[in-house]
Amino acid sequence: MARVFVLRLGHRKERDKRISTHVALVARALGASGVVYSGEKDEKMEKSVEDVVERWGGPFFISYERNWKKWLEKFDGIKVHLTMYGVPFQERMKEIRGKFKSRDICVIVGSEKVPAGIYGMADYNLAIGNQPHSEVGALAIFLYELMDRKLKEDFEGAKIKVVPQKKGKKVVKLNS
Ligand code: SAM
Repeated sequence: MARVFVLRLGHRKERDKRISTHVALVARALGASGVVYSGEKDEKMEKSVEDVVERWGGPFFISYERNWKKWLEKFDGIKVHLTMYGVPFQERMKEIRGKFKSRDICVIVGSEKVPAGIYGMADYNLAIGNQPHSEVGALAIFLYELMDRKLKEDFEGAKIKVVPQKKGKKVVKLNS
């Protein structure tokens, strides 16, 4: 399988600090390699994602791109824009999973209104239902389907991991 990157557009430092962190955490947990974000540069948000990677493992990166357009033009892979205005994702997942065997994917999610040009730049404009909800929810469903409903289990360099329990919490330290 190839790699998945998430492009998070239009980050606003104050308003989006939690939701952009959650975009990155969902991306990491569901098997993406990293998040590139545009809008306002936010070192605090980057640090909170990097802290999770440091403790819970990776590999996973977060990086800032002022010029998201240039970055996306250069991206050599399939560009999937998640938008409530797109076509039902179920109609395209099989085709995209097929391409994903040999080509990287960039999943694009917005914050407030996305720049109009993105609809033309994307290879696919996909709706996770045509109701407004959240970039975090849309990303989770898309990645889950892209990965054939399998969750990533191995995180390189993790210092801690959860031991699943019927009740209560158990976290163990690892010797990595
Ligand atoms: N009204 C905004 C717009 O013009 O796109 C919606 C912003 S929404 C809070 C933020 C992001 O969540 C969107 O840019 C899109 O990536 C994602 N999103 C929200 N609902 C979605 C849906 N039904 N399907 C796919 N993505 C969705």
